[in-house]
Amino acid sequence: MMTFQLCNPTEIRFGKGQIATVGDLVPTDARILLLYGGGSIKTNGVYDQVMTALADRPVEEFGGVEVNPYYETLQQAARIGREKGVSFVLGVGGGSVIDAAKFLAAMIATGLDDPWDRLAADPGSVVPLPNGAILTLPATGSESNPVSVISSTVRSLKIPFASQAARPRFAIMDPTTMLSLGRRQLENGAVDAFTHVLEQYLTLPVNAPVQYGFSETLLKVLIEWGPKLIETRSEEACENVMWAANQALNGLIGAGVPQDWSTHMIGHAITALHGIDHARTLTMIMPSLLRYKLKDKSAMLARYARNVWEIDERDDGRAAELAIERTEDFMARMSCPVRISQAGIELDPQAVLDHLQHANQTSLGERADIKGDDVRRIIAMAA
Ligand code: NAP
Ligand code: FE
Repeated sequence: MMTFQLCNPTEIRFGKGQIATVGDLVPTDARILLLYGGGSIKTNGVYDQVMTALADRPVEEFGGVEVNPYYETLQQAARIGREKGVSFVLGVGGGSVIDAAKFLAAMIATGLDDPWDRLAADPGSVVPLPNGAILTLPATGSESNPVSVISSTVRSLKIPFASQAARPRFAIMDPTTMLSLGRRQLENGAVDAFTHVLEQYLTLPVNAPVQYGFSETLLKVLIEWGPKLIETRSEEACENVMWAANQALNGLIGAGVPQDWSTHMIGHAITALHGIDHARTLTMIMPSLLRYKLKDKSAMLARYARNVWEIDERDDGRAAELAIERTEDFMARMSCPVRISQAGIELDPQAVLDHLQHANQTSLGERADIKGDDVRRIIAMAA
């Protein structure tokens, strides 16, 4: 196993009715900034639940955080936050709002109007305001992890910022909030979480039976319950997908193992260039990336084939190929594109390479050996 440090202090409150307890979790002297997105929380009753729970507390609001949140919008939120003297940021929504809340907490703390360069250079150098999350869309794991993926229109960039101090103090996860989600968001959520597991699991094998065994359980849960969630919206399906998506990216399965986030980094570039949903950029790249790296990843791909897909094949190379086919089938069953052309775009590989260059992501993969020419070939295979 590789050495690792893991400290995940986010308090989880899971289950129906837990939003009513948010008042116990926010410090009593806090001036709260409630951050939300395009308004889904106002139509599905979540906003009312939060405001009722915080009825006797000072709450400022900022709505309108976009999907793939924009830095420029958060600059406006930060100005308001400073003006009103807020001391706690509460994000209520999906990954976009929660990523935005964590990043906003750091932006306000810098005292700068334009802190992009400071935060890009060293996000860990800023102690953010405390923040909390009320999750309404299981997908990203953002509610208990250190990452914010932020887009900048001015810079034409979408990049991740990671700061351990930005992890939410708490994450309230009420699976009944998922009942108002559209089919597309449910599909996106399940495949984003699925991809998060694969990027921490399908790498160079090390001695990590705990991490790999837990990853396999999460993958099997998402394969079984993702489609059931879309068909039934049952209580069990909402619970299982919400919890699996959280565990997929809270630090546990990635501790002590190599990781390969190249699909995500290429996907961020595609979203920045074409505005495609995050999860769908992943499914159009990952199968081709796995085929391109089949030889390097064949040991874990073969294990994945046998332990997750129950493929009975003695030859590792063949088992690996079959596992990639099953992965692709699963993504397609979740109505996600597995080729770039299926998303109706023409992707310019040079534009992707330029994005990766600007984002300092020129050596990708667990061996840092996926370079510009490799990305070009992967994009050609995925066309
Ligand atoms: P999202 O962008 O937060 O939300 C997608 C849509 O779902 C929005 O229109 C939102 O509406 C709506 N929605 C959310 N909850 C709803 C509900 N309960 N009922 C009805 N509609 C609801 O989706 P996401 O997939 O969770 O987040 C994607 C972002 O997270 C991307 O920017 C991606 O890059 C990032 N990401 C972060 C991490 C990480 O580790 N931090 C990992 C992977 C991806 P409203 O705007 O009205 O709320
Ligand atoms: Fe993701």
